Amino acid sequence: MPEPAQLERRTTELLQRLIRFNTVNPPGNEQAAQEFLRDTLMAAGFECELLAAVEGRPNLVARLRGDGDGPTLCLCGHVDTVLADPGDWSLDPWSGEVKDGCVWGRGALDMKSQVAAEVAAAESLAADGWRPAGELLVVITADEEAGAEQGAQWLCREHADKVRCDFMVNEGAGEIVHFNGRRVYGVCVAEKGVFRFTLTTHGEAGHASIPRIGDNALTKLAPLLQAMRDRQPSLELSPEPESLLTALGIDPSDPEAAIREAGKADPRVAVLVEPLLGVTLTPTMASGSDKINVIPAQASLKVDCRVPPGLGREHALEKITEVLGEDGWSIDFNEQVVGNRSPIETPLMDAIRGWINRVDPDAAVAATGLPGFTDSRWWREAFPECVAYGFFPQREMDLFEASPLVHGADERVPVADLGFAADAYVHICRELLS
Ligand SMILES: [Zn+2]
Repeated sequence: MPEPAQLERRTTELLQRLIRFNTVNPPGNEQAAQEFLRDTLMAAGFECELLAAVEGRPNLVARLRGDGDGPTLCLCGHVDTVLADPGDWSLDPWSGEVKDGCVWGRGALDMKSQVAAEVAAAESLAADGWRPAGELLVVITADEEAGAEQGAQWLCREHADKVRCDFMVNEGAGEIVHFNGRRVYGVCVAEKGVFRFTLTTHGEAGHASIPRIGDNALTKLAPLLQAMRDRQPSLELSPEPESLLTALGIDPSDPEAAIREAGKADPRVAVLVEPLLGVTLTPTMASGSDKINVIPAQASLKVDCRVPPGLGREHALEKITEVLGEDGWSIDFNEQVVGNRSPIETPLMDAIRGWINRVDPDAAVAATGLPGFTDSRWWREAFPECVAYGFFPQREMDLFEASPLVHGADERVPVADLGFAADAYVHICRELLS
């Protein structure tokens, strides 16, 4: 087994190198970072390919072949990041500096840290002469932050045979949650769907100097906005929040009561768990007349709507009507992406539980979902048998410290968590592929 201190040092070094490649997407510009990772894994004995949908933005597929015919495990990550405004940061976002026990920089959490830990784990196993029963894949995508059209979506469609796998470890959860004396690590097994829509109200134009000469469509948005300010659609239970609430010691059978109970003990838990319990409606953009002196005949409101995995447009509409009523508006869906999930009880979950039992015996493991979505969605869609989980374990920094730093200023990750995660990946590889 690789020595923990050595794994931590190597993961830290890889993360620092990765942060120094500016891969802000757009434009992404992932080529140099991917070549660095390819060279690293090739030196350890992996067969590596860079596969690009467009010039300069390759995806990396690295494969360690075994001699038996066991399953294929894929350690997955993306190397692009969202932008960073240096003016908001206390350190250069592309410095990769170590300060106060953390590596700082854009991507330190989302998700160059996990990429570094996966590559360090894979590299150390291969360099030690370990070979999988089955295959170990390391797939690092481009373009995750801008929709994955040149990354995971393209890879799963155009190179399905090269990225097909039985198990996948990707981003999405893993930070510890402390709640009522309990310690819980989440494993993300599902992603919600996206059903963004535009609401339109109708009236009659007129001169704005005579308010009642027209019929103002813009003011008709007010009750719709008020309704979404006052309430969200009624909550509904599904396997992921059920698992999470149970691990937190809360009876999930009545979701509304469960959220009240969570909120009393720690409001932050309620804020993060509630979106997993149903359709959410978040109005974000409104427009009316093009001219300040014209009463608008039409006004529109854009709403970001997220729907639990497996459910579609009919379900979304039912919940929208529950909040907005049936009259006074028309609707157009701008995006309709159904979310998906992997089963909770699998050999991959067993491997994760086994590792937590060893390194943090008083803690529990729970399945959870993501209100947003990750590359895992594309793998589950392309390969229905693939069990794809998000797991980057962290215990120095908990969920509530990490969440605001993701896509935020002063993004950083504790060095101790880097070694912790790399150790998890070594263990998972050995458990599933030995
Ligand atoms: Zn990410």
